[in-house]
Amino acid sequence: MDKKKHHLKFGSSLSYAPAPETTPVPLKKQYELFINGEFVAPQSGSYFNSVNPATGKRLARIAKAEESDINLAVKSARRAYEKVWGPMPPAERGKYLFRIARIIQEKARELAILESMDGGKPIKESRDVDLPLVAAHFFYYAGWADKLKYAFPGKDPRPLGVAGQVIPWNFPLLMAAWKIAPALACGNTVVLKPAETTSITAMHLAEIFQDAGLPPGVVNIVSGAGETGAALVEHDDVDKIAFTGSTAVGKRIAQSVAGTPKKLTLELGGKAANIVFDDCTIDQAVEGVINGIYFNQGHVCCAGSRLLIQESIHDDFVARLSRRIETLRVGDPLDKNTDIGAINSKAQLKRITELVKTGEEEGAELHTSSCRIPEEGFWHRPSFFTGVTSSHRVAREEIFGPVLSIMTFRTPAEAVSLANDTCYGLSAGIWTDKGSKIFSIADQLKAGVIWANTFNKFDPTSPFGGYKESGFGREGGVQGLSAYLS
Ligand code: NAP
Ligand code: MG
Repeated sequence: MDKKKHHLKFGSSLSYAPAPETTPVPLKKQYELFINGEFVAPQSGSYFNSVNPATGKRLARIAKAEESDINLAVKSARRAYEKVWGPMPPAERGKYLFRIARIIQEKARELAILESMDGGKPIKESRDVDLPLVAAHFFYYAGWADKLKYAFPGKDPRPLGVAGQVIPWNFPLLMAAWKIAPALACGNTVVLKPAETTSITAMHLAEIFQDAGLPPGVVNIVSGAGETGAALVEHDDVDKIAFTGSTAVGKRIAQSVAGTPKKLTLELGGKAANIVFDDCTIDQAVEGVINGIYFNQGHVCCAGSRLLIQESIHDDFVARLSRRIETLRVGDPLDKNTDIGAINSKAQLKRITELVKTGEEEGAELHTSSCRIPEEGFWHRPSFFTGVTSSHRVAREEIFGPVLSIMTFRTPAEAVSLANDTCYGLSAGIWTDKGSKIFSIADQLKAGVIWANTFNKFDPTSPFGGYKESGFGREGGVQGLSAYLS
């Protein structure tokens, strides 16, 4: 098969003097489990390493929770639900959430740095996107705590009990906030399992719960691997499971929960179409497409990873995209000039490179920025494929990295049919000058979130969630409350 590869020659990467974050952070050598309001060693005594993906070196040792630790955490959550949090007047619960939100704001800088060190995302994203949204989610749901009857008029909304929550590594603190804030506002207690590669900020969040005086057991955090998550999901005394992660694990969880009284919400993968019509404002669309796929190294389930361009502007658009990716700065996540940070883990980098290889083998044309990347750590240059067809693996499977797959269409109807030709349905984007076209296309797209003339914008008041294999249930907004109420 004809293998083609371009290293783009448009200009060279902009260089600035390094501007790394120097704020001191309270990084510890070792992190324990957070059970019943205290930091405790795992019963088995086992720990694993969390690595800084920008260097490949160990940052800290993290406690590995096993079944006996999960039992303790669930027991403590149950006790807190029955004795303290459930019976507490809702307005009082709201006060705790407001307090947590304020402390998050006070500690936002150090939390952002820790997030970037542990996960690899650029500081400008963790500082300006993740942390403000984390605080905003706690503020938003704090406000709902004593107004649930107004959210569901004529109903008597009741908490479910103990929520077991499992989250991924791409937005560690934000996913924790999405899960914990509505659960607590509705009167549930929580056992949360963060992802193996990004547990550090979850444990700093646990300290914030202590600082806020949150009663012991209301939130328990159990770090560990996939088995830890499975033990939590399978625990008999959990009333609700909320999971964000891969579709494969989501399916396994759905099977294990089937036939039990547990309630379930799943936020899974995506392969969003970003549809660019020939009447769009082209430079604005190029920026939006860049943000849609290269934001957070493409580690975004709702990333605009399939770009559908109207044929008449394809060549012009691709030329502009080529010039633009050449100016993206890849490197130190703690440098405020960095656009693209480190790939979260060695395993994820391997997945990305393997899928990119299949794209080339199947005949698509790979375009890659010529930027230099650091020698240590895990990195992937911003790239895109042209000449992609719907049957290519790079058009069907989640790459979950900074790699875009470009296809063309001629008519709006063809754009809709290409966009919906996927097993996923999490998000989509539309770029056009015509408001009427936005509404008519949005109506026909099978995607939970649709952005128009923008991309990857989040707000605690907007519900988020998918169709088809992207999962079910909504997080955020009033809809996000119903996932935690009966
Ligand atoms: P994953 O394996 O689904 O992991 C998500 C969370 O589930 C992690 O906390 C993980 O623990 C835990 N887990 C793993 N196996 C489990 C099981 N059998 N039962 C219960 N919990 C379990 O996802 P990943 O490995 O982090 O990423 C793989 C792919 O998932 C990515 O390439 C991407 O396609 C997709 N992904 C999607 C999202 C999203 O927001 N929709 C986010 C991240 C990743 P460990 O961390 O210890 O494995
Ligand atoms: Mg790490």
